[in-house]
Amino acid sequence: MRAFACQNCQQLVFFENSECLRCGSALGFVPEQRDLLAFSPPAEADGTLTALRGGSRHRRCANALIAGCNWVVPADDSGEGPELCASCRLTRTRPADDDPVGMAAFLDAETAKRRLVFQLLELGLPIVSRLEDPETGLAFDLLSSTAEQVVTGHENGVVTIDLAESDHAHRVRVQEELGEPYRLADGMLVHAELLIGDSVVMVKDAGDDDFRALLCTYWPDVDAAWERAVAAGAEVVFPLSDQFYGERSGRIGDPFGNQWMLCARIEALSHAEIAAREAHLDQ
Ligand SMILES: [Zn+2]
Ligand SMILES: [Zn+2]
Repeated sequence: MRAFACQNCQQLVFFENSECLRCGSALGFVPEQRDLLAFSPPAEADGTLTALRGGSRHRRCANALIAGCNWVVPADDSGEGPELCASCRLTRTRPADDDPVGMAAFLDAETAKRRLVFQLLELGLPIVSRLEDPETGLAFDLLSSTAEQVVTGHENGVVTIDLAESDHAHRVRVQEELGEPYRLADGMLVHAELLIGDSVVMVKDAGDDDFRALLCTYWPDVDAAWERAVAAGAEVVFPLSDQFYGERSGRIGDPFGNQWMLCARIEALSHAEIAAREAHLDQ
């Protein structure tokens, strides 16, 4: 996450800040500019904020209080325009106002979601909401499993999050139950997929990985490809072997710090068959 400077006093300020701690200027994140702007004091009586630089006019997102949101929306002279910012707008379902536990977790989840949306914007990825595309547009259902059974996951653009997972102890329990070490609620991008031509490209934030990039490639004759790569001096990271999920794969490193998965599909398995084999492995 990059840092920002207060446009009034140059103090270092952060993505979540709604006020400069040094000079007191009101701050707000403008998604269209991917920048944290400082506004001139005081805000007008109707809540309109005027950018210190450039004079553009904005209003705070309507979720400023309940979601701790510091993003702003454009304010045109008619007073019309969106109420919710580009991130809050993506939430389709949230806990009820009279659910204090759910609402506290909602605030944490929205904070993480703003970081995620920011990262998607930084990557130049299009964000198409469910309102714009009712079939596959992006929407978030932020639900509390204290009230109902909730399964965190995603389907056709709808991301469902069990808000109870913003509680660290609960999340660690679910991590262990599901064997998912990468289950996070801090906005880190763990797994996104892009379709380029007929190839799926996976994107994630850099973690404590020991590679620069990891490319997973499929081969008609993976053994021959493996032998050629190793003979050419590739470093073996994981040897080529048959995997329980129906693939034969191995991982090599190149001299530039990248790693390559060489894979072949050797069995056609259903999700249920893979899950059954995985459960068997764990015993
Ligand atoms: Zn300042
Ligand atoms: Zn907002």
